[in-house]
Parts: sequence; C-alpha cells; structure tokens
Amino acid sequence: MSLPARVPGLTLPATGPLVDPFGRVHTYVRVSVTDRCNYRCTYCMPAEGLDFKPRETLLSFEEIERIVTVLHRLGIRRVRLTGGEPLVRRGLHHLVARLAALGLDDLAMTTNGELLGRRADELARAGLRRVNVSLDAIDPGVFAAMSRGGDVQRVLAGIDAARAAGLTPIKINAVMVAGTNDDQVLPLVRAFADHADDTVVRFIEYMPFGDARRQHLPAAAVRDVLARHYTLEPVGPGPGGPAVDWRLVETGQRIGFISPLTEHFCQACNRLRLEADGHLRTCLSRDDTPSLRDLLRGGASDDDLDAALRRMVWGKVAGHEADAAVFRAFEGVMTRIGG
Ligand code: SAM
Ligand code: SF4
Repeated sequence: MSLPARVPGLTLPATGPLVDPFGRVHTYVRVSVTDRCNYRCTYCMPAEGLDFKPRETLLSFEEIERIVTVLHRLGIRRVRLTGGEPLVRRGLHHLVARLAALGLDDLAMTTNGELLGRRADELARAGLRRVNVSLDAIDPGVFAAMSRGGDVQRVLAGIDAARAAGLTPIKINAVMVAGTNDDQVLPLVRAFADHADDTVVRFIEYMPFGDARRQHLPAAAVRDVLARHYTLEPVGPGPGGPAVDWRLVETGQRIGFISPLTEHFCQACNRLRLEADGHLRTCLSRDDTPSLRDLLRGGASDDDLDAALRRMVWGKVAGHEADAAVFRAFEGVMTRIGG
C-alpha cells in the first residue's frame, strides 16, 4: 500500500475535526499511562529494564483527563489505555471513571493480563468497555521466555476474569517472532476455539526496534500455517483498525492480522499516541513533538491546547518508511509509546 499524498488546497483549520495535510481525520488516541512494566518482553525491552521516567514527569490523571477532554472536543471518539503495563499504575480505575464520564464511543485497554484477574471487575465497574490482552504463546516455557518470567496461567485466568466482567469483545494480540513462537500459531488459535463469539486472536508482525531483521515473520507466513488446517474466509477490516480479519470456517473464529511492515496501513491512519510524559506522537515512527505536559504546567488554556493539538496533527508525516526490505529502526522504544 502506498503512502498518502497531500490534499491540494487544504490548509490548517481553526475549527472542525483534527485533520492533517493528507486529509486524514483523527478519531482515536492511545494513552500510555506509564512507561514501567512488570514484564520484560524480549521484543519490547531489555532484560534490565529501561531508564524509567521519574514519577513527577508523568502526566497526572487530572492532566490526562484534561488533554483527552480537549481531544474529545476535537473529534476524538475512541480512547485506549496502554503503557508500559497500564495495570502497574496505581488506581487506574479512577482514571477510567474520569474518562468514561466524557461519553466516548469506546474506552478500552491493552494489557499483558498478569494483573487482570484481580482488577477486571473494578475496571468494568468504572466504565472500561473492553480489553486487548497480549499473549504470544500458550506453551508455558515459550511464554516465560518471551516475557522473561511471565506466567501464562495467570494471563489466561485474567482473560477469563475479563470475560466474566463483560470486558468484551476480547482481542488476544500475539507478536510473532521468527524462531521463537512460530510453533504457537495453532495452540493460540485452539486455546480460544470455544470463545468464537467474543474472542479474536490477532497476529502482529514484529516491528523492528534496533537490528531485528532476521526475526521478522510476515503475516502471510502465519496465514499459510492456518490455511493448512482450516478454511479461511476474508471478513474485511474492523471499524477504523489496522487488522485484516479472516474467519476460520470450521470453528467460526475470527482471526486478525496486523502487518505494519508488509501491508502498510498509513493511508487510513486515524490515530494519535499520548505518551506517559505528555508527548504526543502523531506517527509511530516520529519522536519530535513538543510536550503537552509543559504546556499544561505552563498554564495553557483549553483553547491554547486546542490550537497546539491542531498544529501537531498538521505536522504529521505521510507515514513510516519501514518495510520488510528497509527495516529502518523506529525512533524510541515501544514500552514508552504503548504499541
Ligand atoms: N504492556 C501492555 C501489553 O503488553 O499489552 C501494553 C503495552 S505494549 C507496548 C502494547 C503492544 O505492543 C503489545 O501487544 C505488544 O505485544 C506490542 N509490541 C511491543 N513491542 C513490539 C514490537 N517490537 N513489534 C510489534 N509489537 C510490539
Ligand atoms: Fe511490558 Fe507490554 Fe512491553 Fe511486554 S510488550 S515488556 S508487557 S510493555
């Protein structure tokens, strides 16, 4: 898929929705609430962790609520909480309750599921609608190796708790790393075969941070594995999302494929990413916007924020340049960006 072209004659609008020079209207924000994590997934973080940001540099819940309120006014309808691991941020349900009160179309969270068993009920009661759970393997050894110590049974129990709390539909996100979890494609699909009505397994292409070229496993290779055991029927993309979905005729399961490298989806990008320290990433591959936290703490009004957000979105690039051939490393690290 090619990158979008500038729309001739389009100028930075002072009112109306959040649009960029390529005519893309933004309706979705991913909010990272912390850069910390209780896992150390091999594809995301080094074993020793990172130089985590001091607590006072992170946005408070009040600051996140203020930014999301202005974004909502600008047409953002869907919010996803992420991290790091969002459940390591204390009192997350209080933030959920604040955001739920804004009347968004969707309020979801992406989690590694380790702490979900104990928290699913409280989050659902606060107004969270649904969860995506990252799960790269069913085999306990493979899972522990990829997450550097995670317990797959706890995550599976967390998924059950989320289902019981009504945090559905649930998406299970598996990052596929060649030579590591290629043999987990079928186990992952089979583990959720009895929940075809509310659980979608999605296979995500590993994105290159650093020199990771040899570990890339294209979505097409995963589809081929499934095609040897099931009949696959295309069902098209979900609303506004990057996944391309297929149905397994034999089980009725919906399976998603997210292919940022081999099937570029920048053309339809409608998303923004708010990092835990208040930087707004307008593209996954870019790390150059000013801090909204500094604006807020400097006394900016909602109108100042409105204008700053419009300018930042107007500065958005056409898309990332990474593809399976180039493997240009993205700037920054995933645990800060939040996926
Ligand atoms: N800790 C939470 C989790 O793991 O679900 C939320 C944050 S995590 C950074 C968000 C998503 O990014 C996860 O589904 C994770 O698997 C994915 N991710 C992290 N590093 C990645 C990479 N290099 N390529 C593709 N996906 C990645
Ligand atoms: Fe933590 Fe999620 Fe990164 Fe894994 S992918 S290290 S769970 S932030």
